[in-house]
Amino acid sequence: MRVNINSWFASVKSACPICGRGSSQGSQSIPIPIKHPAPRQVMATLCGSCRQAIPWIAYPTCRICGRAERCEDCIRRQVRHFSISRCAVGYDKPMKDWLALYKYRGNEQLELVLAAMLAFAYERLCEAIQPDFHAITSVPLAPERLLDRGFNQAERLAIRLANWYGLSYSPMLERLRHTEKQSLKTRRSRVVDMRGNFAAVSTALFSPTIILVDDIYTTGSTLDECARVLQQANQIEAKTTVYGLLWARS
Ligand SMILES: [Zn+2]
Ligand SMILES: [Zn+2]
Repeated sequence: MRVNINSWFASVKSACPICGRGSSQGSQSIPIPIKHPAPRQVMATLCGSCRQAIPWIAYPTCRICGRAERCEDCIRRQVRHFSISRCAVGYDKPMKDWLALYKYRGNEQLELVLAAMLAFAYERLCEAIQPDFHAITSVPLAPERLLDRGFNQAERLAIRLANWYGLSYSPMLERLRHTEKQSLKTRRSRVVDMRGNFAAVSTALFSPTIILVDDIYTTGSTLDECARVLQQANQIEAKTTVYGLLWARS
């Protein structure tokens, strides 16, 4: 039996990275709401029904956290350390499945798709403020979770975004387990002894504007605590503005 290698490659290439079906069917009529050509190209590999399933947050109701619905969290919060944040999509059942698929498979194609979706949030953030970003970083995972999974999804997405948009990525935070606090105090990279779960590392210094990436925004408390720590690390020089960039808003 002769196998046509070219057509085999073509069919593999055109399979939707989410559902595995042919990606060209019915997808042309569904617009991709991203300007940058690289993430656009990634989104174009999705089939029509997967592309249609994405609950983009095109017009956030909450101007602070970028939520599509009216937001009690931001109304209740009395002190906020991050400036504003933007989220790409609402965290519905399909998006939960997509993220779970990526988290547990670590598939590179899925990673590209999620990063391309984050690009949508980045472009919305640039519309909301003057884009004069100097640095981009991500919310770190707890050491034991990093060991379990082998990678930090927020960091992976942030690095891809940084490459597309010419931003400078560096890890600026570490996540501490409370029980490890004492032993970690001696580490040289540690510049701030903090109250919560995060500490800034030396790369966090001298960054007047920071974009902080995470996968899910739930209450905003992780984002806010990270922003507080980053600001505290920079206090001697100047006030640091921290913007949140999240893949999904729950
Ligand atoms: Zn699909
Ligand atoms: Zn809000």
